[in-house]
Amino acid sequence: MSVNDIKEDLESQGIADAVVQQLTSRTTKKPLPLFLVKTKMPEKLAEIQRLAMLTVSFERKKKSSEPSQCYRCQRYGHTQRNCRLAERCVKCGEDHNSTSCSLPAPPTGQRNAKCCLCGEGHPANYKGCSKAPKKAASAPKAVPTTNRTSYAQKVKKPMSTSAPAAATATGTTAQKQHGDDRLLAMMQAIIIRLDALEAKMQDKH
Ligand SMILES: [Zn+2]
Ligand SMILES: [Zn+2]
Ligand SMILES: [Zn+2]
Repeated sequence: MSVNDIKEDLESQGIADAVVQQLTSRTTKKPLPLFLVKTKMPEKLAEIQRLAMLTVSFERKKKSSEPSQCYRCQRYGHTQRNCRLAERCVKCGEDHNSTSCSLPAPPTGQRNAKCCLCGEGHPANYKGCSKAPKKAASAPKAVPTTNRTSYAQKVKKPMSTSAPAAATATGTTAQKQHGDDRLLAMMQAIIIRLDALEAKMQDKH
């Protein structure tokens, strides 16, 4: 199933703004039967059960557990896109864009690095910085998906016979979390889980 097939079928079912992207395995780099769909109408998307002749289910993409750090001012908790604060250099901490810094690249420039967050001698994106948020402490299963969950369960039931496909899909969903959270910033993201062909066969009988 191609990205274009999905996009066209979504359009014909009333979702005109969909951006579709096929996910690949982190380990094998092979394409997976999983697609990331970005749309401003997730509710409408949840009503769709068939795409390009296949039974599909959707789940909301989980937010990445990595804390976001602003590329512009280096502070944590927001992204460059929303930043109205003064630019600060990731390398030397001065008030200029990181790309126009005169410090040589690490490791040479590492010695002169200065963190604008804590004042220590490291780049501002150093994970060991005392101002860096501790990972995932504030993200306990924040998935308030009331009707979406029930929707997913409803669709999943007939699929439980085709367990292998569902199992791979779940595993890769978790891996994807570390992916491109930049893409997530503006739109809600939803993963389409394509069921295997068996589901299609079952429907016909
Ligand atoms: Zn900022
Ligand atoms: Zn600089
Ligand atoms: Zn620091």
